[in-house]
Amino acid sequence: MDKNIRICIIGGGPAGLSAGMYLEQKGYENYTILEKLDRVGGKCWSPYYNGRRYEMGAIMGVPSYYAVHDVEEFCGITHDGPKLNRNYKDRTGKVIEPFEPKKNLLKIPRLLKMKKQLKKFGELLETKYKGYDINGHRGVAEGRYDGFSAANAKREKVSGVNPNLKDLALPFSEFCKKNDVELIQDIWIGPFTSFGYGYFDEIPAAYVLKYLDFQTCMNFVKINLWTWKDGTQFIWESLNDHLKNPARLNSNISKVERRDGQVYVTVNGEVEVYDKVIVTSPLYVPNKEGRDDGLVGMVDYFDARPDEKKLFSKIEYERYDVLACEIKPEHHPEISYYVFDNMIPERLGHLMVYYRRWRDTVDQVITTYALRKHKNSEEVPYEKCKKMVLRDLKTMKNPASKVVNEWSVYYFPHVFSETYKSGWYDKVEAMQGKYDTYYAGEIMSFGDMDETAEYSRELVERFF
Ligand SMILES: Cc1cc2nc3c(=O)[nH]c(=O)nc-3n(C[C@H](O)[C@H](O)[C@H](O)COP(=O)(O)OP(=O)(O)OC[C@H]3O[C@@H](n4cnc5c(N)ncnc54)[C@H](O)[C@@H]3O)c2cc1C
Repeated sequence: MDKNIRICIIGGGPAGLSAGMYLEQKGYENYTILEKLDRVGGKCWSPYYNGRRYEMGAIMGVPSYYAVHDVEEFCGITHDGPKLNRNYKDRTGKVIEPFEPKKNLLKIPRLLKMKKQLKKFGELLETKYKGYDINGHRGVAEGRYDGFSAANAKREKVSGVNPNLKDLALPFSEFCKKNDVELIQDIWIGPFTSFGYGYFDEIPAAYVLKYLDFQTCMNFVKINLWTWKDGTQFIWESLNDHLKNPARLNSNISKVERRDGQVYVTVNGEVEVYDKVIVTSPLYVPNKEGRDDGLVGMVDYFDARPDEKKLFSKIEYERYDVLACEIKPEHHPEISYYVFDNMIPERLGHLMVYYRRWRDTVDQVITTYALRKHKNSEEVPYEKCKKMVLRDLKTMKNPASKVVNEWSVYYFPHVFSETYKSGWYDKVEAMQGKYDTYYAGEIMSFGDMDETAEYSRELVERFF
């Protein structure tokens, strides 16, 4: 492709900014990143409180975050944040140690069985499900893998046929049942459901395992995690500062038309002309009328073609709410807590985890996390969920004195099993470039910083 082509990137989150970085590294310098907000970072949002930054969005990474590491190297920064630590409480606020046999004598047989299943699961993933952990979903529904290996920082290109991969379209609970490893869900649920990615009876195993591949999940278990002193937003602010063309903030795109091999983008009332467009912002927002942030999908402001409309209308997202709370010093939690009892659909809207970021002080906020949507349950309204979470904090004996920030975010876009199985990803991948348009961002891989940045890397590698 001609290195001088004009490329428009929509969205200044991890996917858009890293697309800029990888394009630049490949010699494409004529790119423009359009960000609608007055800041970069997207769901990596780290506001200030009492002179320090806390996390409203992304919090942590693991050592296999190779694309994030690329960004760190590009900017000369590192993961220099506070060490994470956590404990567990039951729904009554009692501290428990669910994985410690000595504290759970009655559960010893179950814990031993879980350990056995964990070993078996690790082996199955390496053998029966070879190719499961490749970034993106190309070929999976047809029993193929094709992409870049996540096994090490080199990310070699790999491809192959493995009909067993079709199982990844199953909801994760069914996938585990099929493989006789149901108990491992007790381990995977912590960094999955409590992180807002939905419930195992509804979310295809592909999402669970591409994000929480065996190694990554073990890193969570061992708390071998990365954080950033100035927040995850700092990673993307640094990248933006180092790009030849930093994102243009406050860009209000009202229309995108693709005709005669060019892309006409109306930004803040002016028409700009590009050769290609990369969309990293939401492709589709169901029930957008109910949102007060005015978020819309690309199909709403693009001259969306029938195939785009049809495919993207299958996209769902999670209702994941974050509160930042002041808690008086005498009630401040000692550490972060997970509440496993609340990670089941029957406890929709309840507090699943709360995070104490700064261990050296009690003058910082605590953030809380709750899910209020499940495929087969009635959605819990926002205000009701907020009340439930605040009540739960009281039950945990860490009552909030004030809510200083709150966010109900468009979280983890995904498709459900039937759509996944019908080859949704292969149909979308076949459309890449068709209308001078490329689709990136969370839906194309998974809703975390690294998978989205990694997908942008692959996109640039494949098409530019
Ligand atoms: C509470 C929470 C906790 C999380 N925890 C973690 C974690 O610990 N680790 C981790 O790796 N990830 C975590 N994530 C997920 C991670 O933040 C996201 O997956 C990642 O930010 C996705 O990057 P993206 O660029 O695809 O999308 P986004 O971050 O959503 O960025 C999209 C950008 O596009 C912009 N945009 C939207 N519409 C338009 C438009 N019409 N025109 C122009 N711009 C537009 C948005 O303003 C935004 O800046 C968390 C997220 C949340 C909310």
